[in-house]
Amino acid sequence: MKQVYQYFIVMGAVLWFFNAQAQDGKVYKFQAMGNPVITHKYTADPAALIYNDIFYLYAGQDTGDGKRYNIPNWLVFSTEDFKTWKEYPIPLKTSDFKWAKGHSSWASQVIERDGKFYWYTCSEHATIHGKAIGVAVADSPTGPFIDARGSALVTNDMTTEYTKISWDDIDPSPWIDDDGQAYLFWGNTQCYYAKLKDNMIELDGPIIPVDLPEFTEAPWIHKKDDWYYLSYASGFPEKTVYAMSKSINGPWEYKGILNEIAGNSNTNHQSIVEYKGAWYFVYHNGGIQTEGGSYHRSVCIDYLYYNDDNSLKRVQMTSEGVKSIK
Ligand code: CA
Repeated sequence: MKQVYQYFIVMGAVLWFFNAQAQDGKVYKFQAMGNPVITHKYTADPAALIYNDIFYLYAGQDTGDGKRYNIPNWLVFSTEDFKTWKEYPIPLKTSDFKWAKGHSSWASQVIERDGKFYWYTCSEHATIHGKAIGVAVADSPTGPFIDARGSALVTNDMTTEYTKISWDDIDPSPWIDDDGQAYLFWGNTQCYYAKLKDNMIELDGPIIPVDLPEFTEAPWIHKKDDWYYLSYASGFPEKTVYAMSKSINGPWEYKGILNEIAGNSNTNHQSIVEYKGAWYFVYHNGGIQTEGGSYHRSVCIDYLYYNDDNSLKRVQMTSEGVKSIK
């Protein structure tokens, strides 16, 4: 009998150890089995960052009853082969911004400058009506991140001319141009952009409207050769469409649909990056059965291909996902 007790005590300690590891902030490793890439939790609004040859993936965590948005924090994952993934301890929460309220960690994106990582986020503002954009900073792509300003970077009252809605200041997407000038794009219903100072935490000039047809939200800039691409969510439910320009300042030529409505999700949010010689289109769907949906989204990755005239081929969403890189 004593041996049985000893066995249970040892097994209990072993289970406690592994549980504590998962909860206490160690790196959690998992294998991707096609799309969705992440299946142990719901993840939305992906933003990829390539740094030191590692593919980092940032996303909001969809929690709650699946009937409304409940997103208390942002998550960070990484891979070097699209097969084995790591999830790091939660690097940033809505509550890390003292000016923000609730579980309102909407879409975000991280960019690196001079060895620091700036995470542009969106949350409900506690005292200024509407959504607001914040920025957090860290010395590592996996954090921990802290509020870089102690106040919001963009608040709803700063943009009232083009739409009266209280959620037009969302979906921030930073870009550093070849000459070193940084920009921030964002918007819902109306797309905006503004220059950022070199410190990355202050606007440097006026907020300028971007003229794009049927713009809903989720702007993302990428560049290949001498073409700029501005992709965004259009209509509702959302398709991803895109425009092209020879300048970050436009004008932008509308080019049509890039990706169709993704399964079982009325929103979408794309991230486009080149990694180890291929282009990747990162997005979300509601593909996890049986609880997946518009408020329980899941990040997927497929390939992005170009036509000979530099326009983009329509994305083919797959359940297999992208191939593992050796
Ligand atoms: Ca506004």
